[in-house]
Amino acid sequence: KAKELGRGRYQIFDYTMSALNVDRMALTGKLKQAITQNEFVLHFQPIVEIESHSIAAVEALIRWQPSEGEMIYPGNFIEHAEETGLIHEIGNQVLLSACEQGAQWNRQLTHPVTIAVNLSAIQFENPELADYIRDVLDTTGLPPELLNVEITETTVMKHPEQTEKLLREISDMGVGISIDDFGAGYSSLSYLMRFTANKLKIDKAFTQQLTDRRSDQIIPTAIINLGRSLNLQTVAEGVETRFQLDMLYDKGCDYAQGYLFSKPVDAETIWPMLQAHTLLEDVRGMHI
Ligand code: C2E
Ligand code: MG
Ligand code: MG
Ligand code: MG
Repeated sequence: KAKELGRGRYQIFDYTMSALNVDRMALTGKLKQAITQNEFVLHFQPIVEIESHSIAAVEALIRWQPSEGEMIYPGNFIEHAEETGLIHEIGNQVLLSACEQGAQWNRQLTHPVTIAVNLSAIQFENPELADYIRDVLDTTGLPPELLNVEITETTVMKHPEQTEKLLREISDMGVGISIDDFGAGYSSLSYLMRFTANKLKIDKAFTQQLTDRRSDQIIPTAIINLGRSLNLQTVAEGVETRFQLDMLYDKGCDYAQGYLFSKPVDAETIWPMLQAHTLLEDVRGMHI
């Protein structure tokens, strides 16, 4: 580029920008390598039905374990994968391995467990997304009712027509749909109602507002009531204390997910929890 400007002229070099671009290019390269070398793993976190105290579902959460170095959390690479389009391939891998794992667990368990998978807004730019999900369900043998896809309000807002169409196809297969991080986005309610969702996941920022101050309870309570009037089940994310759980129960929330029950853990570690089926027995006697 400097050459094109002609001899005898100076090109001012912006080192900050260049360092950033080199970083980004390196990350892109490493992500591509991670895809081919299968460096992504799924961790799983239980979603507990508050009434029955049983594990109704597990959410699959991606982690990147490079052959050398520490595990990397999605907050550090999903956005870049979205910007580079690599999320399509990563998302396909996640769907396939989550459904494989879910099918295997459900063959071995006497009670069903749903697998929840996060989908990025970018994945809805792929008009074949629903067909891909159908293929994955066919090849893995996971019943569609035992798959739940989680999308955020932003996804719904980004490509409304195509997303609406794909969500209808996905829903018609029998797959469940959750609106993730609800309350944190910008969607208008009338907009949201156009989509065929089954569950509202209350963003953890609101769960964590559940304190003994009545004014803090206003938003979480309003979301639970909204869910009920829209005929959507509610799931509270980020439940860390017994106090929050009891309060959610009082307000009529259906499911809870959070460190109170378990952090996201690898497949091997969650397996005994799935066999035990209920988690709250342990938690009951706890005083937090
Ligand atoms: P999310 O789908 O809202 O997932 C919940 C996040 O909250 C997870 O973070 C989980 O570890 C964390 N969490 C769960 N319980 C608690 C709690 O009690 N307290 C606190 N403070 N945090 C809790 P994680 O695993 O780092 O994932 C972050 C986000 O990355 C996810 O938010 C999701 O948006 C995205 N993500 C994860 N896996 C995938 C994936 O496979 N595909 C895509 N597209 N996005 C993913
Ligand atoms: Mg989620
Ligand atoms: Mg969430
Ligand atoms: Mg979140």
